[in-house]
Amino acid sequence: MKLKGKVAVVTGAARGIGRACAERFLAEGAKVVIADIDTVRLNETAAAIGAADTVLAVTTDVSQKAQLDALILAAVQKFGRVDIMVNNAGIAMMQDFLDVTEADYDKVLGINLKGAFMGVQAAGRQMIAQGQGGVIINMSSINSGLANPRVATYAISKGGMNQITSTAAVAFAPHNIRVVGVGPGTILTEMVEGSFIDSDETRRAILSRTPIGRCGTPAEIASVVAFLASDDASYFTGETIYPDGGRRILNYVVPVRD
Ligand code: NAD
Repeated sequence: MKLKGKVAVVTGAARGIGRACAERFLAEGAKVVIADIDTVRLNETAAAIGAADTVLAVTTDVSQKAQLDALILAAVQKFGRVDIMVNNAGIAMMQDFLDVTEADYDKVLGINLKGAFMGVQAAGRQMIAQGQGGVIINMSSINSGLANPRVATYAISKGGMNQITSTAAVAFAPHNIRVVGVGPGTILTEMVEGSFIDSDETRRAILSRTPIGRCGTPAEIASVVAFLASDDASYFTGETIYPDGGRRILNYVVPVRD
């Protein structure tokens, strides 16, 4: 029960990594506010993971500042405070570099980068007003520092997100608010199965660059997030860490085992 009595907000929590984070927070004793643009799936998830006195679902489009501000307000109205904020909502578009339209660019950057920035601001303002510190976690990616031109907008958004993490960490350090990033490798979620892994060839290509020899699970990312959200990580701020099966450090390929 690392997070007993804490109140956590998780965006993009209707499914995938965000849902796993919400479930792990509940298991660690926190109350959780889950947010997503997909109202139907969000409400199903809320009903599945906890009771109404521990889970609140708030439909939110993170690309809209007013909706993020309303999300934080709803969390405070229901549970009295916000101690942990996870800016997790994100999308990826697979396309050739020159095929990216202005609308594509605005959509990916609006959700992944602007959404995270405004999420940090909204949570940071609330935590500063509370005066008791807090933790903000931004869901980055190994693609923040790798050059895959098929997901250029995604990579650009996650690279920028790492600078949100660093700059906000310095801005908020005097308030005892830590801002940290998590950059997963390839985790088996609907996002990955719908874009990054679209054939056996792409699956094998990913595994050839993954020393641990398999994709990760949402729960394996949630456990890193829970650690970072807890006082066990009390001297860690401003950096992004990479639970990626050893992928980011590998400069070669390894044999695929299955
Ligand atoms: P996912 O597609 O399964 O879930 C993402 C959730 O975000 C969905 O429920 C979706 O409805 C929601 N969402 C999309 N746009 C939104 C918006 N405008 N406002 C609010 N919610 C919105 O994806 P996932 O794999 O669980 O990814 C979660 C995060 O982890 C993303 O930021 C992603 O970039 C990051 N990530 C994932 C992987 C991976 O391999 N799965 C790797 C690195 C980073």
